[in-house]
Amino acid sequence: MKPKPDFATTEREVRAIYSEWAQRPLVRNCTGIADCCRFRLVGHTPYLTRGEAHVAAKAWRAAGRKEVVTPADGSCPFLHAKTGKCQIYEGRPFGCRTHFCDAAGGPAARNDVRDLIQRLEAIDLMLGGNGAVNLPTAVREAMTRMK
Ligand code: SF4
Repeated sequence: MKPKPDFATTEREVRAIYSEWAQRPLVRNCTGIADCCRFRLVGHTPYLTRGEAHVAAKAWRAAGRKEVVTPADGSCPFLHAKTGKCQIYEGRPFGCRTHFCDAAGGPAARNDVRDLIQRLEAIDLMLGGNGAVNLPTAVREAMTRMK
């Protein structure tokens, strides 16, 4: 029988990766304008590995939410329509931490994130994933797996 994915351990590892990233000496300053959360505006949607999706789904559930609904304007489902703030900020995926908009200093260089991405990909494999999936779908699927 296939072993059950160990989400608790992998969650700790994903959070450790986020924490390592935060400690890297790159000067960036997110001003919270949330343009990067308006996917149609910026023309791209973040892709999440399974470990990231699990952490984001836990944060969304902790906020009392049971569904991931994409707004009509195509923005991130976790962007608060009125405040313009991320509602899962502590659990936001790696892409949201590294793909900075120009106002925040521009995206992180591949060399600055490569090792951390490789670790996230290894966790994805461990959890039975097959590569990163677009944010709304990834978190929706993670919530289903948590049921
Ligand atoms: S998860 Fe949060 S930071 Fe990332 S795109 Fe959505 S609202 Fe923005």
